[in-house]
Amino acid sequence: MLKLLKTHFGFDQFRPLQEEIIREVMAGRDALVLMPTGGGKSLCFQLPALLLPGLTLVISPLISLMKDQVDALRANGVAAACINSTLSRGEIVKIQTEAQQGKIKILYAAPERLILPEFQHFLQKIKVSLLAIDESHCISEWGHDFRPDYLNLKILRDLFPGVPVLALTATATPQVREDIREQLALEQAKLFISSFNRHNLFYTVLPQREAYGQLLEILGEHRQEAAIIYCFSRKDTENLAADLRGEGFKALPYHAGLESEERRTNQESFIRDEVQIITATIAFGMGIDKPDVRLVIHYHLPKSLEGYYQETGRAGRDGLPSKCILFYSSADAVKQQYFIKQIEEATERKNAYRKLEQMVAYAELTHCRRQHLLAYFGEDYPREKCDGCDICLSPPQEFEATIVSQKIMSAIVRTGERFGMNHVIEVLLGSKNKNILERDHHRLSVYGIVDDFSKEDLRRIINQLVSRNLIDKRGEAYPVLALSQEGQDFLRTRQKICLPRPIAPAKLSPAREAVDREYDRELFEKLRVLRKQIADAQGVPPFVVFGDLSLRQMAAYLPQSEKSFARISGVGQEKLNKYGKVFTEVISTYAGEKNLPEKGVPLTGTEKSRRLKREGSTYQETKRLVLEKMSLEEMAGVRNLTARTILAHIEKLAAAGEEIDLAYLRPGAERFAKIKAAFQQAGGLALSPVKEMLGEDFSFEEIRIARLFI
Ligand code: ADP
Ligand code: ZN
Repeated sequence: MLKLLKTHFGFDQFRPLQEEIIREVMAGRDALVLMPTGGGKSLCFQLPALLLPGLTLVISPLISLMKDQVDALRANGVAAACINSTLSRGEIVKIQTEAQQGKIKILYAAPERLILPEFQHFLQKIKVSLLAIDESHCISEWGHDFRPDYLNLKILRDLFPGVPVLALTATATPQVREDIREQLALEQAKLFISSFNRHNLFYTVLPQREAYGQLLEILGEHRQEAAIIYCFSRKDTENLAADLRGEGFKALPYHAGLESEERRTNQESFIRDEVQIITATIAFGMGIDKPDVRLVIHYHLPKSLEGYYQETGRAGRDGLPSKCILFYSSADAVKQQYFIKQIEEATERKNAYRKLEQMVAYAELTHCRRQHLLAYFGEDYPREKCDGCDICLSPPQEFEATIVSQKIMSAIVRTGERFGMNHVIEVLLGSKNKNILERDHHRLSVYGIVDDFSKEDLRRIINQLVSRNLIDKRGEAYPVLALSQEGQDFLRTRQKICLPRPIAPAKLSPAREAVDREYDRELFEKLRVLRKQIADAQGVPPFVVFGDLSLRQMAAYLPQSEKSFARISGVGQEKLNKYGKVFTEVISTYAGEKNLPEKGVPLTGTEKSRRLKREGSTYQETKRLVLEKMSLEEMAGVRNLTARTILAHIEKLAAAGEEIDLAYLRPGAERFAKIKAAFQQAGGLALSPVKEMLGEDFSFEEIRIARLFI
């Protein structure tokens, strides 16, 4: 299986659960797979398809996706085809004949095909080994994307008794999950759920106040990279796209109100890297599978956290670091409340409020956003901090909030616990609003007593007090604020309280570029151009030729021989044959001009693990790299471990008296002397006091290495 994975897909290792799922399917058993977008679901049927004797039939709802997947498979040398309404009769007949002759391994079809007698007749004449149902939540009326055509799938069970069914989806609440089981007769199927944590996505929330300026700054930093910007309305998408074009960006809008032809061409331009930015309503995204979207920006507040997770999920499918940015102001929430109020049906309206509240809670979080998102899907995030969200990277500072909290709560009491947040805030800020004057609220002792916080600040503070159960929000549309029992006690006993400072949330911090090995940007650009030329000549999207990860690795290691090129992730046998020469030529020319050496492409996962087994232990592997005189970072990269772990190995090896020469890692004389002096002053071998003394200029790693010599 690992061999096929490399030759046909160019990958060295399975992603979590892929191998287990494939084994289940190969054993002829049904399976139900829940994996987030980008988790690697397709491989779970594409790889078995290569091993199974007959054909793998894939049901997929979106014709555009089908075509991309087939293109990608063919580029990898897999005999794949699709049958859908965009093909002529002649083309369909040709594909069907090939399928009957066993020349096709993977056949994609849309669900509406299944009821056509002609298609059923065709199916009866072919040997099917596996049925894969992509986006299988579409079968459930409980889900968000019900497609009646999916009910036709029941026919497949009758047509192919005993053939294993693999149902896959990225969205399934327990209810939808049960529905899938029932509708597809999958009661016995084993359920595979992978973590919904998208470790390469960086989550951040920025204040809406300076949204446009910040947006320009962010886009400027990501000039050649694909971005989706979600907006509230169709009009917003068009205006924003026009504004961005005015600033020199390539941007196009996408929404359900556009002519289908325009929608298609805009989407196509994005997929083919001709346009970097799409401004869209939520209508965009279902039909695209672009793996290298680096930014998903919500310019306005989304309607639900679930939707937000799905939309952000379209970033970084290829596993490279990507950013998810939400612009937020509480005014945005108020605007949405206004629209929700128009919903006539009571339960629907209530649901919409609840979802909005959850979204607001996310935007105003003061703890890890990743943890919160995962908790929303019922998953425990095992760590306190994630290092991949704005809050973990720059935790909000606390401030002594006793006085302002007392003022707020007094204002709630004095106005009779009968008013909403806006009114209470206006009283506190001393507004001359008609509502206030009419009710004589300008005569209250709490009128105008806050002058050190803005309206927005007060909103955040009140929401904090609500989340700490000191204030209750009562009622749905315009909830009234009242004190809870705890709130009353708080005031009476004059308790103290600290709250996170309601300043503008942290500025956008860079995504963890650590995973993103340093690569030569200039060469990357050249390779990108080459990729685009090849893709255009073949009429496929650029990522079908090579993904960004492959290009980055090429630009990092400069492989110039066939052998080293083959080690790049994403380079399988077919692509090696087809593109190896042109790419290594460009790399060689560049390397020659700049006089840059080829760096050893790290051993692939399979080779690496074989080697590890052969040589015994993980320490020995590190030892081998030390003997090759690799730097800490290189070792960490090659071994896919942190520098800290590598250091721990080295310390163990040294302690065990292994003969390794570490001199090359030793800091320079001057720095070493400084570190040594600090250890002497601290009077021990503990790291922290020494690090404190030495400051930012010295890293923990450097100090730890020096300690070995001391
Ligand atoms: P999903 O259908 O779950 O959204 P895909 O099947 O489209 O995800 O896979 C997402 C990306 O991950 C694709 O670019 C795919 O080539 C890549 N991928 C899948 N499996 C692996 C693997 N084992 N190693 C590296 N990349 C993988
Ligand atoms: Zn976090």
